[in-house]
Amino acid sequence: MSVTSPIPDDNGIVHTAIGQSCFACAGPLSDPAVHWLGADGAIYLHAACVSPLFVAMARDVDEIKRPEHYRNVREGLRLLAERRRSA
Ligand SMILES: [Zn+2]
Repeated sequence: MSVTSPIPDDNGIVHTAIGQSCFACAGPLSDPAVHWLGADGAIYLHAACVSPLFVAMARDVDEIKRPEHYRNVREGLRLLAERRRSA
């Protein structure tokens, strides 16, 4: 992980987010932005988009760990919607 900047690093390399789009919201980026390099690519994010993405990813991990809980939640929501329609 790194933070982009228009200022060259110790090796004289500028690592800027200008011209990149945010991985989460697709909006245009400026510096500073968050940059993550993965195994086969890189993502750039607005700082404000990192926390919502992190929360969503953590929620997905929780669903993998507790699938029955999420099935119950979805079934409960389906029943509520059914009751509202018939009321
Ligand atoms: Zn964004």
